[in-house]
Amino acid sequence: MEDAIPLSLPDITQIEIDTVMQTLLSGRLSIGPMLERFEEGCAHVTGRTHGVGCSSGTAGLHMALLALGVGPGDEVITTPFSFIASANVIQFVGAKPVFVDICPKSLNADPAKIEAAVTDRTKAIMAVEAFGNPMHFDSYRKIAEKHEIWMIEDSCEALGGSYRGRRLGSYGHVGVFGFYPNKQITTGEGGMVVTDDDHIAEACRSLRNQGRAPGTVKGTSGSWFDFDRLGYNYRLSEIPAALGVAQLSRLDEILEFRREVARKYVERLMGNTEIILPTVPEEDTMSWFVFVIRLNDRYTGEERDRIIEGMHRHDVGAAPYFPCIHLQSFYRDTFGYREGMFPIAESVSSRTIALPFHARLSERDIDFAASTLELMLGRENLRRD
Ligand SMILES: *Cc1c(COP(=O)(O)O)cnc(C)c1O
Repeated sequence: MEDAIPLSLPDITQIEIDTVMQTLLSGRLSIGPMLERFEEGCAHVTGRTHGVGCSSGTAGLHMALLALGVGPGDEVITTPFSFIASANVIQFVGAKPVFVDICPKSLNADPAKIEAAVTDRTKAIMAVEAFGNPMHFDSYRKIAEKHEIWMIEDSCEALGGSYRGRRLGSYGHVGVFGFYPNKQITTGEGGMVVTDDDHIAEACRSLRNQGRAPGTVKGTSGSWFDFDRLGYNYRLSEIPAALGVAQLSRLDEILEFRREVARKYVERLMGNTEIILPTVPEEDTMSWFVFVIRLNDRYTGEERDRIIEGMHRHDVGAAPYFPCIHLQSFYRDTFGYREGMFPIAESVSSRTIALPFHARLSERDIDFAASTLELMLGRENLRRD
């Protein structure tokens, strides 16, 4: 059953419906003008030269690693506190994810710990803006430069944000966005690689299309159909691309709505000593992905889970964002990871609650979600005393 106040909801208006409809009637359903427009739009928004559309954020991250030549025997440093795709893709190319613990304020990988984890085998940093927060991205960039390693920016939660004058998606050699329905903008499923590097862009265009050699991608008459590498079908069809074009045209509005919802939550919950509100960077350029609060350290993971269940019983969406990647059974079994290895990430992760968050959330819904959370906190306190 869906919650009456869902955790997330795409913001679809008549512009999106019209643009998709026109595309459906155009007769051109893949490799067409909408993909190009969406790519140009994403490159523009992030201040980069190239955009390469693809079938998901995960596919984009996979292609970025391949384009940078990351492969077997290489190590890629990343955070255990993210969506699992950030680390899974590293194994797609046969490399090893090396986790480092997070900074308890930003919830992003701690720069000092990244630096300490660099070895001869380190080929790249997979940097993630957790919940859209860009703190430390200038430090990551300096570390990558100093050690001459690649920086991939998993910006799947950060479209439209900026930090210290630089747009998110442009800190790394490559940036990647995802457009699943819970993201700031959606194409249903879809992704985008952005970069200033011609070779990386060209490699990704080829990789998403079965490895077809550059210059033959569109298969125009007279061109040679040469496949000079192992590629995939990671293409983005015209229908989602059209949805993306329409969503992107409303990006400022959507981000403004989301900022306003975040502001109202903060206003409503400020002063509640049971919870810790999200830290935002000094400038107000945050692209809000989700609104995640943390219970103070009196609460256990079981108590947190009970609070989430209680919220669902009251028809309010809530979720434990994110369970640590290193503690997933696949990672325990493959790498021998155990509890206690990344104590800050584990402690944070056992006490987070994502609250309902989307552009159209009304003041009443925000108040109801916050009141339901407070009710559940009260119940846990009664239980304990
Ligand atoms: C959503 C997300 C992805 C993957 O995006 P998909 O489009 O679902 O493949 C990767 N990394 C992070 C941090 C994400 O939040």
